Amino acid sequence: MKAPALLQNMNRKQKRSLWTILIAAALFVVALLLPVEGVWELLAYLIPYGAIAWKVIWKAVKNISRGQIFDENFLMCVASLGAMCAGDYKEAVAVMLFYQVGELFESLAVGKSRRSIAALMDIRPDVAHVERDGALADVDPEEVEIGERIVVQPGERVPLDGEVIEGTSTLDTAALTGESVPREIHPGEDVISGCINLSGVLHVRVNKRFGESTVARILELVENAASNKAKSENFITKFARWYTPAVCAAALLLAVVPPLFVGNWGEWVSRALIFLVVSCPCALVISVPLSFFGGIGGASANGILIKGGNFVETLAKVDTVVLDKTGTLTQGNFEVTAIHPESVPEQELLEIAALAENYSTHPISASLKRAFGLPLDESRISDVEELSGKGVIATVDGRRVAVGNGKLMNYVGVEWHECENSGTIVHVAAGGAYMGHIVISDMLKPQSRAAIQALKECGVKKSVMLTGDRRDVAEAVARELGVDQVQSELLPAGKVDQVEKLLAEQAQGGKLAFVGDGINDAPVLSRADIGIAMGALGSDAAIEAADVVLMDDNPEKIAMAIRIAKRTLTIVHQNIAFALGVKFIVLILSALGFGNMWIAVFADVGVSVLAILNAMRALKFGGK
Ligand code: ADP
Ligand code: MG
Repeated sequence: MKAPALLQNMNRKQKRSLWTILIAAALFVVALLLPVEGVWELLAYLIPYGAIAWKVIWKAVKNISRGQIFDENFLMCVASLGAMCAGDYKEAVAVMLFYQVGELFESLAVGKSRRSIAALMDIRPDVAHVERDGALADVDPEEVEIGERIVVQPGERVPLDGEVIEGTSTLDTAALTGESVPREIHPGEDVISGCINLSGVLHVRVNKRFGESTVARILELVENAASNKAKSENFITKFARWYTPAVCAAALLLAVVPPLFVGNWGEWVSRALIFLVVSCPCALVISVPLSFFGGIGGASANGILIKGGNFVETLAKVDTVVLDKTGTLTQGNFEVTAIHPESVPEQELLEIAALAENYSTHPISASLKRAFGLPLDESRISDVEELSGKGVIATVDGRRVAVGNGKLMNYVGVEWHECENSGTIVHVAAGGAYMGHIVISDMLKPQSRAAIQALKECGVKKSVMLTGDRRDVAEAVARELGVDQVQSELLPAGKVDQVEKLLAEQAQGGKLAFVGDGINDAPVLSRADIGIAMGALGSDAAIEAADVVLMDDNPEKIAMAIRIAKRTLTIVHQNIAFALGVKFIVLILSALGFGNMWIAVFADVGVSVLAILNAMRALKFGGK
């Protein structure tokens, strides 16, 4: 049932090797049926042996001439030629035949998982329709410059990041986020490459070259994931380096030492040959990286990008999750709920605030601009300075304006007072005088409660919320969500301190994850054992700083990422235990004289095939 799917996409080399196996197998059956003896029997088996083995022998000779002796080709040659000499013709042919079946299988499996990830991440656009000299030209997305206008037809993939100039439509972001809720898009909004344009024609002004586009970054990240090796991958590589020579040495001893005392050279040599077949570490060397690769691929199909096998390992051990509030657990979509000016009209206070915030990327800035509603004259603004965790200071109409929290007011030395409304308070000062404040409030994400619950269910012992927001707001949110601890009114540096403190309290072996939206929390993301950036679609800083990137902003994906990591690691451990277990049993059996070539072939090829099939399970992660 698996085989046909595997056989569908064979390349030429794989097809050739399948034919070689089939022909050699047919010749082998003929030899088995021929009623010949002596030299004729040897000749009958030499034909299928030659057909299947010549390539392996050739490779072994080539590698030895390059100084690589103990590779699997060499082992298989010695074992099968040894069996030939000992008169075990059938076994000799069978060893090679099964070895080649295993090799073919392995190459098919690796090819398939590569392709699956490529298909899962089928986001690379082929063509961009650019408006040049009044006509549309179809060009490679890499050749489009910043500022050029492209047209995206319904049903097409958005080839480059940019701003919509004309047209409204809905976008399918499933390939990027794993979530298939269509997203509406209007002129003035940004589109992200890799999405599919569903309904209307969009005219887009490109604002990033292809190399810096979302698609290119994601693909690069997934392609590089294989080079961040997990500890267990490195362990296996090192292990293989001594395992094979050690078993070969043991084989030599077994062939030479016992017969010196008890005689019967033939018997001991054939026991030693079995050792050689078993000494091949392929099952581990292939299946362990393949499992990590599969886990990373399965995660990316769910909109979770993990930057390497090492992070899969860390993720599986997470027992403390530290979360940022704004944008992570809340929508970061502040609504203005009250405006309390001291001297100016309400609309004017809002306008000053919106002007000063014009260049900020903080969610508060977007909310103020949205509440003000009218276009802003950028020429009125200069000398903008943003103070992380406090607010912004800018020159508006020649006056120094400060917009932010109480800390910012203290910093600029302006008298201010608290507000009894609940919510986040944005104070405004201009020209050294207090102008009043704007009350804004954020909404929880609908999935946040379930997300915290899911973390507990997947073995996370402690959840901590950190925020720069006011204490009463923070505590209300924490109570509502059921997080275990909350720390409020923190500056970005204070968040780092809190994480360091939590790291120091951490139980042995447990790991700490920090989850943020990438806005002013890059230092914490990199300080934690593992940094998770969420809602990262389009945020370059977050994609850079984090170890795990959640493409959409659903916090339930945190627990999902941990579950995928745990499952992947379980598969890795199963494969290591199974492969080593079977090999050691066969080694002992054959040393004692209970083994034979057939068992040895199973211990090598059979175990590899089973381990590879098991590894490929990591690729499929069915949601919960
Ligand atoms: P969080 O920890 O919730 O993600 P931040 O560290 O981004 O919050 O900001 C903490 C606080 O600093 C905010 O609640 C707000 O009072 C203030 N602040 C930060 N940036 C701005 C800004 N651009 N405009 C106004 N206030 C800001
Ligand atoms: Mg934040």
